[in-house]
Amino acid sequence: MRGISSVPTYVVMQPTTLCNLDCAYCYLPFRAADKRMPVEVARAVATSIDGWARDGRFSVVWHGGEPLAAGREHLAALLDPFGPGVEHHVQTNATLIDDAWCDFFQTHDVRVSVSVDGPPERNGERVTRGGKPAYDRILRGIETLRRRDIPFSALCVVSDPRPGAATELYDYFLGLGCDVLGINVEEQEGVNTRANGHAAADVTAFWAELVTAWRADPRIHLREVEWSLRYVGAVLDGTADDLLPRQLDPIPTVAHDGSVVLLSPELAGFSDPRYGDFTSGNVLTTPLGEILAGAASTPWIAEFLRGVEACRAACPYFGFCGGAHAANRYFEQGRFDTTETDHCRNSKIRLLEGVLDHARDHEPSAVR
Ligand code: SF4
Repeated sequence: MRGISSVPTYVVMQPTTLCNLDCAYCYLPFRAADKRMPVEVARAVATSIDGWARDGRFSVVWHGGEPLAAGREHLAALLDPFGPGVEHHVQTNATLIDDAWCDFFQTHDVRVSVSVDGPPERNGERVTRGGKPAYDRILRGIETLRRRDIPFSALCVVSDPRPGAATELYDYFLGLGCDVLGINVEEQEGVNTRANGHAAADVTAFWAELVTAWRADPRIHLREVEWSLRYVGAVLDGTADDLLPRQLDPIPTVAHDGSVVLLSPELAGFSDPRYGDFTSGNVLTTPLGEILAGAASTPWIAEFLRGVEACRAACPYFGFCGGAHAANRYFEQGRFDTTETDHCRNSKIRLLEGVLDHARDHEPSAVR
């Protein structure tokens, strides 16, 4: 894997900056303001995407703010310019989901992912603008999805990964009925300045326990564990070099005003004396394909690519990780050409170590 691709596998779109919740770990700087994406921005992106979608599956992820806070009518107008080859996804806090939104998801064939951190006692960081627990409202939305037989994925933030938490969490999500589960260890990024360093043994044991819980009842696609097992299997087969993509996926995030930030959605809305506002262009003035073709000349991206090469040269986990995410380097270390971060320790190194610990305990012959 070298350099950055000029064709993404998906695009992140911000229909509004607004969120109706105020979660303690949220990275978004403008979540109290309702700045909505004009339809011209969606039209400009759709024109570029139509070309890419013909070569296979292509996804648009509507992410916020809280995307449903844009309202059904406006979101429908934003979806309208996209052709039939485009899969729409929405990442939502679920609090606004009702029957009318379920009709919307079915009519527009939108795939739904909800953000929920587990049972009420583990969901305390997700609060309303008034600081009240949002759990009941989240659950009401999810129950509506279930009643309407709409499949959904779930995204869970874990602020304090340690042994004992993983089994409880996995059992909770089995009961919730999601098809796919992603586990994010809380990250220090954006306006969330809370430190994310944890004891190595605790984080590794958390992941090992999660693998054990999943293997006992693997009904859910557990994103991080399945990635890790695929990598471990490829190492054992001697095919691990083929797992990383040949080039980095640029993951364009198109903000409400059409500005484009590549690689890390979390950088959108921030600026820095050295790097400016991190944008690589605006779809209202430059086609997205052209923005992507010139990506490597954006100064901070050039610095990040040097950081990825430093990882390749120094880190034994590179084949699994690929250099992790730009935003974590910047928000933890103030630059992009560094290597290890607390994020990569928590979510790459210790994840893989946890999977290997599980294998050593349960199938020692496989990892001897
Ligand atoms: S685990 Fe950390 S140091 Fe290693 S390749 Fe990934 S980002 Fe770089």
